[in-house]
Amino acid sequence: MSPEPESGIPDTQYSVLSTQYGDESPDSPVLAEAARSWRSAYVHIPFCARRCPYCDFAVVAADEAGGMDTRRYVDALVAEIDMEPDPSELHAVNLGGGTPTRLRPVDLARIIDSLDHRFGIADDAEISIEANPEDWTPAFARDLRRIGFDRVSFGIQSFDPAVLEALGRTHSPREAEQAIEAARSADFSNVNIDLIYGTPGETDESWRRSVDRAIELDPEHLSSYALTVEGGTALSRAVLAGAPAPDPDQQADRYEHVDEAARSAGLVRYEVSNWARPGHICRYNLSTWMMGEFSAFGTGTHDHRGGVRARNIRRLDAYLDRVEMGARPRSGSECLDEFDSERERFMVGLRLAAGVRPGSIGGPFVASDEGRRLVDAGVIGARGGRVVVLKPLLTDLVARSVLSVSPADC
Ligand code: SF4
Repeated sequence: MSPEPESGIPDTQYSVLSTQYGDESPDSPVLAEAARSWRSAYVHIPFCARRCPYCDFAVVAADEAGGMDTRRYVDALVAEIDMEPDPSELHAVNLGGGTPTRLRPVDLARIIDSLDHRFGIADDAEISIEANPEDWTPAFARDLRRIGFDRVSFGIQSFDPAVLEALGRTHSPREAEQAIEAARSADFSNVNIDLIYGTPGETDESWRRSVDRAIELDPEHLSSYALTVEGGTALSRAVLAGAPAPDPDQQADRYEHVDEAARSAGLVRYEVSNWARPGHICRYNLSTWMMGEFSAFGTGTHDHRGGVRARNIRRLDAYLDRVEMGARPRSGSECLDEFDSERERFMVGLRLAAGVRPGSIGGPFVASDEGRRLVDAGVIGARGGRVVVLKPLLTDLVARSVLSVSPADC
């Protein structure tokens, strides 16, 4: 197989964010290409009530040094946002963590105001926040709507109390349901539920009930990820000491179940682990998967602008010291050359159900021995001039195979 010719639609046709994309199916190539030109911002809030045993994010738990100094951190974020050298209007804003809902509404408002002041936030921008159900009350939800948030992503993970306990989560299934009710009553019309599958001790029946309950709550968006054992976490230490590890075969079955259930409920898979109703994709995520430009603020963040990837300092105290000295809190950066940039675009784009334009990498990859083997095995194919992974569970394997393409092949 060789990829079909590219669609021929000029990039400029996709160059603005517009509600005209509201009716596009979440897996539409037109929508994916549009996302490439959306400018977004990510703000990291590292604070968590406690550290979950599987988590390796840049977080600070309440009982760790600096864990309660939220006001000082927000001051630093506002200062860092003011240092942004190249602001242009934002089409998507995402507050993630950590647990952004550990902050008071007044602090969340300061962050959004400073982004609007420095960049300008487009009238129809998505403003999204990640939330833990136990922090979310009707009054808090109303405050967030007033600030301008229009999307909330709840880290629910499971509706089985035993699984939640194994994951170290402090909310109950009932609190998760109440959080969604509170979001609805405050007029949030774009709600995501995050689920995790494959926790040791989780049964098929427990997973089915969690998926059923999530779908009954009628979210506009669903994300579902396999539990992974990351080095340096309490979970990895437990597994090294002999505790059961997640079973990959079982996780594959669980993935197939959630995919089938989500599709039956009318949610469309647009990325390996993400499903949405039309008009409710996560613009921020889609834009970053399409190598759109984004700025990122806070500890341990990475951003991507003008072909440069830059990293922020991960340690909270070092980050605060640097910003308070009036300097940008960078820990490093790299310039992506044309080949690296193109290869990354192709590899990340493979995650999308819309597939990816072959560009200069796709042709040599599909023509390589490994590419032909993947085509013959029905793992990748061509659709509408794009390369598509037909077996989403094998996406990482396909992406690793792309690493064998060298500049000399293109
Ligand atoms: S709440 Fe989320 S970010 Fe915080 S420790 Fe748990 S998994 Fe990590």
